[in-house]
Order: sequence, then C-alpha cells, then structure tokens
Amino acid sequence: ERVIGGEVSEFDERFEQSLRPQFLSQYIGQHKVKHNLEIFIEAAKMREESLDHVLLYGPPGLGKTTLAAVIANEMGVNVKMTSGPAIERPGDLAAIVSSLEPGDVLFIDEIHRLNRSIEEVLYPAMEDFSLDIVVGKGPTARSVRLDLPPFTLIGATTRAGALSAPLRDRFGVHSRLDYYDTEALTEIVVRSSKLFEADIDPNAAVEIARRSRGTPRIANRLLKRVRDYAQVRGTGSITMDMASQALEMLQVDPLGLDHIDHKLLTGMIQRFRGGPVGLDTIAASIGEESTTIEDVYEPYLLQIGFIQRTPRGRVVTASAYEHFGMEIPE
Ligand code: ATP
Repeated sequence: ERVIGGEVSEFDERFEQSLRPQFLSQYIGQHKVKHNLEIFIEAAKMREESLDHVLLYGPPGLGKTTLAAVIANEMGVNVKMTSGPAIERPGDLAAIVSSLEPGDVLFIDEIHRLNRSIEEVLYPAMEDFSLDIVVGKGPTARSVRLDLPPFTLIGATTRAGALSAPLRDRFGVHSRLDYYDTEALTEIVVRSSKLFEADIDPNAAVEIARRSRGTPRIANRLLKRVRDYAQVRGTGSITMDMASQALEMLQVDPLGLDHIDHKLLTGMIQRFRGGPVGLDTIAASIGEESTTIEDVYEPYLLQIGFIQRTPRGRVVTASAYEHFGMEIPE
C-alpha cells in the first residue's frame, strides 16, 4: 500500500472526515483563495443571495472537498456531495437538484468526468435554476420544465483543462489550489496531532511536513503512521527520533518521494537515458495507469523540477540525477 498514493479507501474517508476543518478560519494556507472566498461569501450573505458557482481545481488531496464543506458552513447551508461518474442519467441529476433547499451547495467531485448529456441538463440549472427533462418515450415524449431553488454548484477537478468551455464558463468563481508550503503543512500536522490528542515535538512536525509532497492528505496519513510507530516503539510521544525512524520505515525520502517515484525516475534514467519517454511507456514500466501518473504522481515531480514535459515526452532533470547521486550522461 502506498502511503502517498492518490486512492482513498473507505477507512481513509472516515479518518479524513475526523480531521476536516469546519470553517475558513480553521482552513490552513491557500491565503489567496480563502481571501477571495471570504469576500464573495460575505457579499452573497449581505444580498441574501446564493453564492456564485465555484470551480475548485488542483492536484488530489489539497482540500477541495474540505473547502466545499467549509463554504457551505460559512454560508449556513447544507451540502450535498456527489461525483461526476456517479451521475449516470439526467434523472439522477434531477433527483439531486430537486431535493436542494434554497441556497444549498451541490458539490460535484471529478466534474470533468460528467458525461455530455448530463452537462447539457446542468447548464440551465446553473444559469436559470431550471431543469428541462424529457418524460415518456417515443411520440408521447415531452419536455417538462422544473423550477429549482437557487443553489451553488461547487465543482472539483484535478484537470481544469478537461472541462468543456461552456461548463467552465458557467462558474463565476475559479479557484486554483496550490501545493502547500512546509510552514502551512507543519500547522496542519500540529492541528491534527491536537485532534488525535498526541504529543508532538515541533521539529518532528516539520519533518513530517517536509516529506508530505505539499499535500495535507499525505501529511495526515504520515502523521497517523508515525503516531502508531511512536505508540508501539516508544512512549506514544512523537519525538524527532520516533518520526525519523518511522519515516525511514515507510521509505519516504526527505523530499517526500517513495519507492514508486524512485522506480519511475531511476527507470527513466537507466532504461531511457533520462528521456524523452512517452507517458504510456512510463506507465507500463511501473504498472500504473497513464492517467494516474498524469494526475497524481507527475504534478509533484514537475513542481519540484525533477521532470520536465517536452513535446516528445518526459525528461529527467539534473536535479533528479543529483538527488539519486547519479551521473548525468553527456
Ligand atoms: P480529492 O480531490 O482527491 O478528494 P481533496 O482535494 O478533496 O482531494 P480533501 O479530501 O478535502 O482533499 O482533503 C484531504 C485531507 O486533508 C482532509 O482530511 C482534510 O482534513 C485535510 N486538509 C485539506 N486541506 C486542509 C487545510 N487547508 N487545512 C487543514 N486540513 C486540510
């Protein structure tokens, strides 16, 4: 099992739920996004209107779902959560939106995976709060217009580029979540330790933060593993020593790279002289889907400048060679 992987099990889901901030004041980092949202939320509340539709995008685990729930809390409304692939027919969407109360938030995760026929039903729902659905079949089929209460759609995606332009344009607010810096992640680790009622050395919190790939989900997962280790091997207190030993055991290196990143990068170096290598070839070499590499693993490697994208494929950079102590070929 990959601690820093993108997949979220049911168990993770419950664990994450317990650590979710409820209000903007508890939501750490992402200052620009938070600042903008504060103003939009305040203005909507003053006008007693629903908030504009919001599109949240960025790599997985940066807090899109959390932020959607925070926005609903700040607006004092309910949130209904679903995802693009879960809405299969226009009727599924109709059932969800017609159950909303005025001002409610509808959160659609992975909105880039909505199918086109659903998107078309969604446009008038977003624009005029109405829904045109076809009832009946064949010659007796007719279109019925349903009026909806005003609501806020919050869409989340790891790939803003995969959204169709008409859908993207219907969101009034576009917010990009960026990787967190070590300071913000340290704050998240300290906050989560308090919720766990675990005692943590500030230096150990920084060490966990550094190895979290800029991602709160990973910071919380690492913290949980380190806490288990400290409980079994130590006194339960998360000291620097306990953290280092546990992180070593988890095979997460000082930059947050694990054995799969190592395999991916050293494979590109040894088998393809550092590239350019096509995405599908990389995927096959480590037994992963290309889309998983593109959405989950690669963004961080691009962010820290270990690989570059070129028209002919991915290339390993000098920094990666240095990190592995390997010689750069002529
Ligand atoms: P995905 O799109 O992959 O579902 P996500 O971007 O929606 O991921 P979340 O599920 O919202 O990510 O966040 C993952 C975990 O990180 C949650 O447990 C949440 O508590 C924590 N978290 C995320 N952002 C913050 C933040 N700004 N402050 C504190 N904790 C955060």
